[in-house]
Amino acid sequence: MKAANRDFTRAVNQFNILNSIREAGRISRVEIAARTGQSPASVTNITADMIREGLIREEECGCKPRRGRRRIMLTLDPEAAHVVGVKISAFQISFAVVDFVGGVKSSLTMPIRVSERREETVADFIEDGVRHCVEDARLRMDDISGCGVAISGFVDSASADCLWTPLKKGRTRIRDLVAERLSVDVYLENDANSVTVASQWFGQGKGIDNFLVVTVEHGVGMGIVVDGKLYRGATGIGAEFGHVVLVPDGLPCRCGKRGCIEAYACDGCILRRAKEMFSRRRGPVPDLETLTIEDVTELARAGDPGLRKLFREGGAILGQGIAGLIQIFNPERIIVTGEGVRAGDLVFGPMRKAVKKFLNREQFEATEIVVQEWGDDDWARGAAGFVLSELYKSPLDKIHRAG
Ligand SMILES: [Zn+2]
Repeated sequence: MKAANRDFTRAVNQFNILNSIREAGRISRVEIAARTGQSPASVTNITADMIREGLIREEECGCKPRRGRRRIMLTLDPEAAHVVGVKISAFQISFAVVDFVGGVKSSLTMPIRVSERREETVADFIEDGVRHCVEDARLRMDDISGCGVAISGFVDSASADCLWTPLKKGRTRIRDLVAERLSVDVYLENDANSVTVASQWFGQGKGIDNFLVVTVEHGVGMGIVVDGKLYRGATGIGAEFGHVVLVPDGLPCRCGKRGCIEAYACDGCILRRAKEMFSRRRGPVPDLETLTIEDVTELARAGDPGLRKLFREGGAILGQGIAGLIQIFNPERIIVTGEGVRAGDLVFGPMRKAVKKFLNREQFEATEIVVQEWGDDDWARGAAGFVLSELYKSPLDKIHRAG
């Protein structure tokens, strides 16, 4: 075998070993050989190199030894690499420094009205935020193996073109502007796709080949994993579930159409409808200038029937859309997440009811719907997860940038 081919085979074997350790969490060499189909000698050989490189480490199995010695297990070394995730939203930019297993080491949120700033200024803010966050994690920029920037809209991640985003008109140069400032590899990706890849590598999508992620926040986003791969569609821009029209001539949507799922189910639309409702209401109403979606959720929980109806309608439309997704994709699992998850049963009770109503029993029972808790740094963590998934596929020297 030519040397180049030997190197390639070894790189593939190493990727498969790394993947089986990631999926299992802790695993013995014998189990790795069984899962990957590699010989025990090859597994011993390659894992010895990976331990020397600091990618993985040995741990004694906590279980009782059957004969004599305790079993030695292998786990990923969280300190093997660090990456930064950045999420650009309409009114803030959030950051997270994440280790090799997706653990958050530090995070930060900066309030900034992104659409009112020049791109260069936004890139300056991102540079400051990343440097600050890296310092907070007690790391140096040299320790950072890559930076992921997540943005809502139509992103072609291969060319880093952002074809449309609610944050800016026209194409964006944000990836290149950030890369110039930080001197690290910068990846631009759609925010829902980032969260989907992060779920696949470190969350509820781990080990599942066919699943969907629906994100509910200011908009309604979606990521699709088919046969273990992120599905991007013919033009690479992926899924825009939020802008599927379910109510002909329904409420206006920010995309210019009427009756989109998003126009009923997203946080921003529920807040807007709540304000309209209060402005028409006689008697005492809250201050509409300062009213937030959190206030609206709380008032609905306290029993305001008008507000409860808004959440119920949002949930029902979302459920109708999800029933359609189940019919098309037959996924093993649908993960619903995002800031909107905080509304809890106000939305997800009606959502589940609608999913059930629009499917026959076999279809309904074939897909598990998981509503996943949402943390403040989850968008930035998602952006970082995308970079990690790229790193796992790359040769060792890229992971050990500093070494
Ligand atoms: Zn729309």
